Amino acid sequence: MKYGKLLCRDETRPRPFRKKARTMTPSRMNVESFNLDHRLVSAPYVRVADRKTLPQGDVITKYDVRFTQPNAGHLEMKAVHSLEHLFAEYSRNHSAAVIDFSPMGCQTGFYLILQGDPDSAEVLELIESSLTDILNATEVPAANEVQCGWGQNHSLEAAQDAARGFLAQRAVWEQVFA
Ligand code: ZN
Repeated sequence: MKYGKLLCRDETRPRPFRKKARTMTPSRMNVESFNLDHRLVSAPYVRVADRKTLPQGDVITKYDVRFTQPNAGHLEMKAVHSLEHLFAEYSRNHSAAVIDFSPMGCQTGFYLILQGDPDSAEVLELIESSLTDILNATEVPAANEVQCGWGQNHSLEAAQDAARGFLAQRAVWEQVFA
């Protein structure tokens, strides 16, 4: 495992900073999702993308919450942006473990980062509850120029359509590969 340490996964002695840049092309890349063959997945799904033990022993877990099939479909940017606001706000009503919910640049899904290593059933329930709240929302939280960097760039309707579509596939969220 020449490049095993690049993964930083559950290292006993974490090395947060590296002194020298590597000059060779690694067989595995630093970013977990760059090692995922996106042709093999079957969206929508939820999978663990990373789990890291911090120096003091705390664990954080990162989930890949994939809405659309990579390289076949994507969410419009207004839907992505509004889902980000809505989920970030509402998920915290259900769980104190939420650290972050951020869009993927490819617009096919989001990364959800949680404190600890919760049961997958709990995580799916958190996602389901948060998306159900989104269906009942009457506005996008913080969609204004005081609280957001592009307050005009939102669509509640598009976010709700995406949430509805994802919820409709609830039974297959755990099936990551085709
Ligand atoms: Zn914003």
